[in-house]
Amino acid sequence: MGTRKPGFSTLAIHAGAHPDPTTGARATPIYQTTSFVFNDTDHAASLFGLQTFGNIYTRIMNPTQAVLEERVAALEGGTAALAVASGHAAQFIVFHTIMRPGDNFVSARRLYGGSINQFGQSFKTFDWHVRWADTADPASFESQIDDRTKAVFIESLANPGGTFVDVAAIAEIAHRHGLPLIVDNTMATPYLLRPLEHGADIVVHSLTKFMGGHGNSMGGVIVDGGTFDWSASGKYPALSEPRPEYAGMVLHATFGNFAFAIACRVLGLRDFGPAISPFNAFQILTGIETLPLRMQRHCDNAAAVARWLKGHGKVSWVNYAGLDDDPNHALQQRYSPRGAGAVFTFGLKDGYESGKRFVEGLEMLSHLANIGDTRSLVIHPASTTHRQLTEEQQVAAGAGPDVVRLSIGIEDVADIIADVEQALAKA
Ligand SMILES: *Cc1c(COP(=O)(O)O)cnc(C)c1O
Repeated sequence: MGTRKPGFSTLAIHAGAHPDPTTGARATPIYQTTSFVFNDTDHAASLFGLQTFGNIYTRIMNPTQAVLEERVAALEGGTAALAVASGHAAQFIVFHTIMRPGDNFVSARRLYGGSINQFGQSFKTFDWHVRWADTADPASFESQIDDRTKAVFIESLANPGGTFVDVAAIAEIAHRHGLPLIVDNTMATPYLLRPLEHGADIVVHSLTKFMGGHGNSMGGVIVDGGTFDWSASGKYPALSEPRPEYAGMVLHATFGNFAFAIACRVLGLRDFGPAISPFNAFQILTGIETLPLRMQRHCDNAAAVARWLKGHGKVSWVNYAGLDDDPNHALQQRYSPRGAGAVFTFGLKDGYESGKRFVEGLEMLSHLANIGDTRSLVIHPASTTHRQLTEEQQVAAGAGPDVVRLSIGIEDVADIIADVEQALAKA
């Protein structure tokens, strides 16, 4: 492409991919193999010693997975990426690379319900401690930072409420304390918002959602922004101290601005093993080719449904950042002018029971625990995704008992509205 900088839609199709050198195959092949033949013993030794970069074993690296990694890194504007089996695996590996027993991190409270559990329950068993902050109040992050704090975590567009977060303000606080900002960009995708451009240092995704986009494959990814100095404070020994298993190599000194992605691969993925299958990597790559088209349609459909719901007599409120009078509208305009995403919540006047009848009355919309499918989806978070939480935690997470969450798909919007209309009539 010469010196031209390709646009987002071009990168979504071409970044990382080349015709297969052996067969000429134009689509990225599914390299369904566990292992790769070495040229000779010296080649094998240099691969194992990290002196040469190359394929050894699919738990650690695979050519289909590598195209997916390069593609997502390009779309997010990062230096490198690591694809893994799920969004939760990505989060686990990021924190494993950063945390030591007794450490803490500060996280926004408005998160995907599974992340609230992972951070608040399972991480405790490693003696890693989350401190919850008020998502809408950047100062509440700062007041919880102490000398054992290792990172700050937010979702750019928070699940399940669909609220935009002031990424730049929170990045500024993290950096003032020498900490990396980790952003879960699952709900926005890089089509709407690129957190690295607003000061984030690491981006994670559940590729299971809009990135893959078809509700058929689990995946996750870690994107290294290449901006954070892992050696300055001595707080990140996995990156700044010699690794005994790699002959005393210091990962940050050796790999520079993509050392974090390398550390996640050669420590976390190597030892815990949540590798993405080549088939899932292929499915997600195919999905990403149409990400710009799909996301725009998702946003346009969601805006139309939100506006329609807002005028309905049985609906008490609609939280959609794309509506002009929404309290979150200014942040949406600043961070994501192309649209406000596809996931939002609303409440029915008759509360819990009416919400249940509404969900059960839908015919085309599917009642299930996912977002970011081509199909329109609905769920009652309080009885499903956020059920493990106390009612207080549910309300804090934007998932109170009266809340219905929609993930609007890319069907004809008139059909989506017709289904919602007939189900509201029954509710
Ligand atoms: C689904 C989701 C996750 C977890 O991803 P999995 O692929 O299901 O492990 C994390 N964050 C957000 C915002 C999600 O929607």
